[in-house]
Amino acid sequence: MNKLVKGYWDCAYCGTKGIDGDLRDCPGCGKPRGEDVKFYMKDSVEYLSEEEAAHASREADWYCSFCDSLNPADAEECKSCGASRADSEKNYHDIRREADEKAAAKEAKAHERDRELEKSRAKSKRFKILAVVGVVLIALILALMPKGGKATVDDFKWERSIAIESYQNVEESAWELPAGAELKSKASEIHHYDKVLDHYDTITEEKSREVIDHYETEYEYKDLGNGKFEEVPHEVPVYTTEYYTETHEEPVYVDEPVYQTKYYYSIWKWIECRSVDTRGKDHKAEWGDVKLSNGEREGQRTGHYILVVSGKKIGTCEFDVPEDIWNNAKEGDVFKVKRHAGGEIELLDGGKTISRIKK
Ligand SMILES: [Zn+2]
Ligand SMILES: [Zn+2]
Repeated sequence: MNKLVKGYWDCAYCGTKGIDGDLRDCPGCGKPRGEDVKFYMKDSVEYLSEEEAAHASREADWYCSFCDSLNPADAEECKSCGASRADSEKNYHDIRREADEKAAAKEAKAHERDRELEKSRAKSKRFKILAVVGVVLIALILALMPKGGKATVDDFKWERSIAIESYQNVEESAWELPAGAELKSKASEIHHYDKVLDHYDTITEEKSREVIDHYETEYEYKDLGNGKFEEVPHEVPVYTTEYYTETHEEPVYVDEPVYQTKYYYSIWKWIECRSVDTRGKDHKAEWGDVKLSNGEREGQRTGHYILVVSGKKIGTCEFDVPEDIWNNAKEGDVFKVKRHAGGEIELLDGGKTISRIKK
């Protein structure tokens, strides 16, 4: 049988405190304990003797709804007004539960109000942040948007180059011997590396876990609702940290070289040895005169065709444009230009970008 503990109560009418749980009427004002009574224990637990406990009731007081008083479980009529127990439905626990529920509802409501307030505050803060972000974003987009403008052709420049190649015997190496090459030597060399499993390493890790060490008895005190409490023991686990090691195998790879035959050879090839360059600051591009020596031939022809343009937004710029556009352009022709935030300027013709520069 669990032990019983003495309880106390306070009088809600006259304010007398620490009234013995065995007393039904307040010694200060004579009022019986009623609706507002909540039993409590003293800090130092005062046990009833085994004898007392054996005779004590473990049933809650019942509540007389006519006169607001609590009566012992074995009383069939209200000790204050004589009303029958059958006409009352609640006991001490029902009243405490209702009071707790009311208090909880009140607290929940207050909590809800706080949350609403917090939410609306967060909302207005979020809105402010959003507004600032929006303004910054718009400013950024405006700053990054390319600025359109016009540019007028002021001048022309050009450069042309004809590559001259000569037939030469050169030394080379490769993983394959090309046709027409004269092999000088071969060697086995590292072509690439393969990742190969070499071995496994055993990795040991220190780990810990919580395990039950032993049980301890804890006591809970149940309000019997009649001025006494029942001591209810519980076995609760006490944990301790257990250390252990865990091992696993981890693969270790090595770079293994893969060898292949490398060929060293000489080969006859057309190699660019010089160029015939021409340039001008006018609109009449010309190729240079080619005079070939023995063992020489003409290679690729390349050219750069520059439009010198100027505009309000870009100042004076030089654009390398395709030859046909350069040929057809006249002094005073107007092109569209787009200036980007990064300093890049595009030259457009019929909506298409024909050249771009960094300035
Ligand atoms: Zn009182
Ligand atoms: Zn009564």
